[in-house]
Amino acid sequence: MIETPPGRRSGPPSPAAEHPDPARSDPAAEHPDPAQPDSAVPCPCGSGDTYGACCGRFHSGAPAPTAEALMRSRYSANALLSADPARFGAYLHQTWAPETRPELAELTTPGPRWRRLAILSTTTGGPFDSTGAVEFVAAYEEAEQSQDPGSRPLRGRLQELSRFRRESGRWLYIDGQLSDDPAGL
Ligand SMILES: [Zn+2]
Repeated sequence: MIETPPGRRSGPPSPAAEHPDPARSDPAAEHPDPAQPDSAVPCPCGSGDTYGACCGRFHSGAPAPTAEALMRSRYSANALLSADPARFGAYLHQTWAPETRPELAELTTPGPRWRRLAILSTTTGGPFDSTGAVEFVAAYEEAEQSQDPGSRPLRGRLQELSRFRRESGRWLYIDGQLSDDPAGL
């Protein structure tokens, strides 16, 4: 015995199904390059500005005016890394002091998913300073590797006191000191 599933009754097809409106384009077609983040979306760094008005400017080449702005843009580059590892990995590399930075290849490998950022404090690092420090805490989620569909992703927090210097008008990340006891977010 064959039953007709609910919602799939026989009858004339609806006009919409027979003649799809060509003006209603696939939303994905409006963004043919998924590697480029939409500049109108909220910035991953959580500033409250759009990506285009915040970290997107620095990812496109404008110099970050403060150490905190550079730190936020580096966080956003990490958050967006899987969307375009070559582009955002290169940004992390070029904003890292040459004497301490890893090889470019190490920076193009997506790590955990970065969920949230909070700036705890800044010391100097302003437009007229040549050095600066920013302490932040960031929350992340490890990519799910488990075979168990019921398992939850591993979440964690990272707190770091980062040091920066300004060279030829551009801030560079030097290094950071991790906290053993990250603050809450
Ligand atoms: Zn931002």
